[in-house]
Amino acid sequence: MSSDHRKDWDTYFMDIAFMVSTRSQCPRRHVGAVLVQGKKLLGTAYNGAPMGVPDCLEAGCMIAEDYELVVTEGVEEMVKKQRCIRTIHAEQNLLLFTDRIDREGSTVYVTDEPCWTCANMLANSGITEIVYHRTYPKDSRKVSLMMAQKGISFRQLEQYEPPRETLMSVEN
Ligand SMILES: [Zn+2]
Ligand SMILES: [Zn+2]
Repeated sequence: MSSDHRKDWDTYFMDIAFMVSTRSQCPRRHVGAVLVQGKKLLGTAYNGAPMGVPDCLEAGCMIAEDYELVVTEGVEEMVKKQRCIRTIHAEQNLLLFTDRIDREGSTVYVTDEPCWTCANMLANSGITEIVYHRTYPKDSRKVSLMMAQKGISFRQLEQYEPPRETLMSVEN
């Protein structure tokens, strides 16, 4: 293949994030994340229960519901949110398994837009860029705002198409 046919770096690293996501055992969401410094891959992670502990496939998802006060154009509304809390999220596992010094000025490629908690942790982790593919509308607005306040480059690969073999149907 000539160099014209080579994948661009965004596609290359996002493909790896999607490959990593297939390791996840949570039937609700398969998330993969990779840490990249320059063009170098420094770590990979997916969402899952702690090592040695039964995961969602074995023990079922652990569903929690909470409410959040959302204000839209001055109108307050309590919005109910459901999530599986059995797993450590991919982004959090990535932070657990990489060193701060490696993360300074690095980029995270993640299959899904980070939730609020992960976004908060990533914002304080030394990384300076986050690239994602699928949106996570539940937290999207406040996450984008916080990234802008923090000066972290935060972008969606909208045109990207994940490798077909990495996709699975998820329950929502
Ligand atoms: Zn689960
Ligand atoms: Zn998260």
